[in-house]
Amino acid sequence: MNTQRPRILIIYTGGTIGMIEDTETGTLRPFDFDHLIDNVPKIRMLDYDIDHIQFENPIDSSDMSISDWQTMARYIGENYDHYDGFVVLHGTDTMAYTASALSFMLENLHKPVIITGSQLPIGEVRTDGEENLITALQIASATDQLGNPMVQEVAILFENYLWRGNRSTKMSADNFNAFKSNNYPPLAHIGLGIQFNVEALWRSPARRPLDVKLNLDPAVMFIDLFPGLSPEVLNHMLNTPGVKGIVLRSYGAGNAPSNEWFTDAIKSAVERGIVILNITQCANGGIHERRYYTGDRLARAGVVSGRDMTNEAAITKMMYLFGLGLAPAEVRSYLSFSLCGEVTV
Ligand code: ASP
Repeated sequence: MNTQRPRILIIYTGGTIGMIEDTETGTLRPFDFDHLIDNVPKIRMLDYDIDHIQFENPIDSSDMSISDWQTMARYIGENYDHYDGFVVLHGTDTMAYTASALSFMLENLHKPVIITGSQLPIGEVRTDGEENLITALQIASATDQLGNPMVQEVAILFENYLWRGNRSTKMSADNFNAFKSNNYPPLAHIGLGIQFNVEALWRSPARRPLDVKLNLDPAVMFIDLFPGLSPEVLNHMLNTPGVKGIVLRSYGAGNAPSNEWFTDAIKSAVERGIVILNITQCANGGIHERRYYTGDRLARAGVVSGRDMTNEAAITKMMYLFGLGLAPAEVRSYLSFSLCGEVTV
């Protein structure tokens, strides 16, 4: 049995959790880690060895970029063997994108990477940040009966739930329960205790060492369907210079207009080598492309089904696959696989 104190590394990137009010403008802006931790005296009650690294300039997560994901992935890779788990403190706005990106970048992950933040700054009396941080630390140090990490994936902890990172979406700008997986059960429920949903937890089939993939290709975009979308606008988007992959947000079970101009435009983009991945605009459920004539036409035009993937997982998975240097045909084929539990196959 492991009798050592859990060793946890906190990576502080910014976000509301560590923000303070700018006295001149009255707006919230990111502040440093010492301020944050001073507001969580209870952390000393945990018998853990905790270290931290902070972004040189903590950011509002609306400023999140690929290079920030690379920094986080690098921190985790460089420190992987020295810690039992990692807690990433992050703004909520793009937290689900970061969780998805890291889930692909950290290949063969076998340790917990728990991302959390808060809706109210840690210095506020009613803050949710203190509880989220403490619970995230407890989850990052949780082990099973054999002493193995309970969580071996990138997950988002927020208020009452732990969610798979690449299945999560920010659902509320106001609620303390701000995140949800619409197509996957919670990994844990947080009430009086932490109840893990053991069957839902990811276990990588590969016993290989962690392999951090830093290269992400930004040549991707979303196209959202809406009634009234004109051929000019659609063609303009499909011909965006340099774009290699498009996540098409279609209606319902994966449906799109059945007009000739629409299908021809999509088909010609696919023939030019652009990978188009179909996901639904619905919060819940996924693509069943052969159910309707309108969806079937998309599939016949060469569009790949994204099944029940989130926006965040779909776009970052494309960045990751193109970042590996794969050809369009290979990207199309990997998009259909579950690489780390991001899609139901
Ligand atoms: N704008 C903030 C951020 O994403 C919101 C938050 O943290 O809740 O950094």
